[in-house]
Amino acid sequence: WDGTDFPWTPALEKILRSVFKLNSLRPMQRQTMNATLSKQDCLLIMPTGGGKSLCFQLPALVDKGLTLVVSPLVSLMEDQQMALEHLGVPSAMLNAATSKGDLMRIQDDMVKPNGELRILYVTPEKLAKSKRFMNRLEKCYAVGHLARIVIDEVHCCSQWGHDFRPDYKFLGIMKRQFPGAPILGLTATATIKVLEDVKKILSIPKSLLFKASFNRPNLYYEVYEKPSTQKDFMDELYRLISRRFSGQSGIIYCFSRKDSEEVTSDLQSRGVKAGCYHADVDAASRSRVHRMWLSGEIKIVVATVAFGMGIDKPDVRFVIHHSLSKSMENLYQESGRAGRDDQRSDCIVFYRLADVARQSSMVFTEMTGLQNLHGIVRYCIDVSSCRRSLIAHHFGEMWDSSHCNNMCDHCDKSRNKGSIEKKDVSKYCVDVLSILRAAADTDQRMTTAKLVDAWYGRGAASLKVKSVAVPPFSKETAERVLAHMLIHDYLQEDFHFTAYSTICYIVPGSKAKLLQNNSAKILMDFQVKTAKK
Ligand code: ADP
Repeated sequence: WDGTDFPWTPALEKILRSVFKLNSLRPMQRQTMNATLSKQDCLLIMPTGGGKSLCFQLPALVDKGLTLVVSPLVSLMEDQQMALEHLGVPSAMLNAATSKGDLMRIQDDMVKPNGELRILYVTPEKLAKSKRFMNRLEKCYAVGHLARIVIDEVHCCSQWGHDFRPDYKFLGIMKRQFPGAPILGLTATATIKVLEDVKKILSIPKSLLFKASFNRPNLYYEVYEKPSTQKDFMDELYRLISRRFSGQSGIIYCFSRKDSEEVTSDLQSRGVKAGCYHADVDAASRSRVHRMWLSGEIKIVVATVAFGMGIDKPDVRFVIHHSLSKSMENLYQESGRAGRDDQRSDCIVFYRLADVARQSSMVFTEMTGLQNLHGIVRYCIDVSSCRRSLIAHHFGEMWDSSHCNNMCDHCDKSRNKGSIEKKDVSKYCVDVLSILRAAADTDQRMTTAKLVDAWYGRGAASLKVKSVAVPPFSKETAERVLAHMLIHDYLQEDFHFTAYSTICYIVPGSKAKLLQNNSAKILMDFQVKTAKK
């Protein structure tokens, strides 16, 4: 599908330059455009920032009819439509807020044989709920004017996806209703299982599948050990922002609304131009923060994941995660908002075991919530693998770390992180289990914090176990051992509801027995700093 001898190739090249002012296509864009212009159903998986929109915006100008785009977020449609208006592309948007006059005008245009309108954005709700609109669409199809149906964030169709939306189920009827209009589904993240499900739901069993590499060569991936006090953390964050990222635009993602407010006001009190964005901020302030950030009036948005889909600021130089995200997928999407202009940008996660418990108390009710969370814990506590190879592995892609080009904290030669040694930590893990047994015997429940304290002999006297010595390593290392035990099922999380929150306790996991009777050995990588000569 990457041919340049299709009948539309000359027009495609011309419009690319004259309308979109771009010189060349990125990987998988040409394939997708050729397929959809050939009236083939297809699914495109392309990382955030990879350039999915162009894959339907350009074809919409190459052939005549109307390209219908189903998109879940109004803000995303607004951004895209604004950009299209700027380029002089006739486009429109329909959502709950569209005025009656606009609605009439758009619906008229849809069925005019020589209608001007090229791209029409609608929400899935609109499609599912407005009979009137559906009638119009049928008419549009009947006069041969419906060129294609684009479904953005197509993984939302599937219950297996991380973002299921009930209204997306309705899209299943599109193929039956409009068999001659090719479907183009777009997503940044989807596993094979989700894709198979999507094909079934949309009734497009023969759909082509294009997958662009997950790799974003200009993003530098890095994990920081998060300081244990809020003050130390803010000092470090401020240092980063004021030195390494001085004057640059970025996003700081926080776990909770409260966190994002605290970080914002702390930064503001230090003179940083930052704005706060989360679901409880009123709509007007939210859009003001977004606008000021786009224009560069403020440099940093401190946000929850509510600040997300559809952010298309090209020069985001850093994305910092104040706490780990809930999955690799989320981390990838969120940090992928950096560096859309292909310039070097940094993606930093601050990791601490205490944050794992916070996240797991939130996600454990989701079907694969804990499994996904443990995936990202693995990414954070790994001290030796190329971060890109960990991401690649997650997305089922082969990856040779020699291609990282010094663009992660582990491959970066300028960092001189010392050499890696494997050490047997089994005996310490057995100690942890002994403490848990002592806790169970005296009916005490252990959080990770309590467990670490007990290990260092600072807990309740009843938790002191004769055979357990204070570990000969730092608290950070102790936490890493616990995290390792957790993601490998030597420990397990146990959730209890209180009136105010869900508390995550630690209990022995399904593999604990193996350790206790010496039939498992736990090896972990350690960084060994080589002394300077
Ligand atoms: P996605 O939807 O995949 O997250 P977008 O469609 O928003 O990504 O595109 C991300 C950015 O890449 C936009 O700023 C867009 O203008 C730019 N872009 C897309 N295709 C190309 C291209 N072929 N050459 C240069 N820039 C491109």
